Amino acid sequence: MKLVLLGPPGAGKGTQATGIAEKYAIPHISTGDIFRYNIKNETELGREVKSYLDQGALVPDTLTVRIVKDRLNQADCANGFLLDGFPRTIAQAEALDESLSEQNETLDAVINIDVQKEVLITRLSGRRVCKDCGETYHAVNKPPKQEGVCDVCGGPVIHRADDTEDTVRNRISVYEEQTAPLIAYYEQKGLLFTVDGTEPVHVVQEKIFSALDKDAD
Ligand code: ADP
Ligand code: ADP
Ligand code: ZN
Repeated sequence: MKLVLLGPPGAGKGTQATGIAEKYAIPHISTGDIFRYNIKNETELGREVKSYLDQGALVPDTLTVRIVKDRLNQADCANGFLLDGFPRTIAQAEALDESLSEQNETLDAVINIDVQKEVLITRLSGRRVCKDCGETYHAVNKPPKQEGVCDVCGGPVIHRADDTEDTVRNRISVYEEQTAPLIAYYEQKGLLFTVDGTEPVHVVQEKIFSALDKDAD
């Protein structure tokens, strides 16, 4: 399975990614997680991308595409992958298509999680994430069992620096301008499956699974 998760910031991509990756035994590749890991470890890439993440702006396409291509060339991607947060621009989508077609491959499906703007702001201001493994929580709707401690790995659960209201608004408008056009792009290719992301997490998950299982038949 070669899958892409599409949707505005806060739609629930990271939340759904864990279950999908597990079910289909494919790696969950989040460009946001890769960038944050590099910032945390003060690598050269981390220094290059930090200001973009702080502002909620997109990291330039050439750099982002290079990182994703490297990642997709790793052995664990041989049987497929789940991309979360990539592509985010038409140029990134075209680069992905090109890179796959060089190996006679194509995407199997693009899952578009649809959530309206007002809901996104509440979700992101309450979002908490594990600093070590990236597991996603919500202060009110899905708190970790022990406050501040990740259920999965025991790491610290924090409020992301770019989940402030101003940055969130900026990220949503970046999404509307640069990423939303991907909906039509993948629809034209017959790959798009849209799910209502305002339903409870397990309902969204079931709908994604049944669409993907149908697709696999
Ligand atoms: P994304 O990766 O698309 O930015 P996340 O998966 O991080 O989104 O989810 C954003 C926030 O919304 C998190 O706090 C998460 O717990 C919460 N959330 C995700 N899906 C749902 C849902 N279906 N209903 C309610 N809250 C949700
Ligand atoms: P969210 O799903 O909440 O928007 P992500 O973790 O996917 O957050 O992304 C966080 C930040 O990382 C983005 O605001 C952007 O600065 C950068 N980023 C992630 N993916 C991409 C991408 N495909 N292209 C450019 N920038 C990206
Ligand atoms: Zn963790």
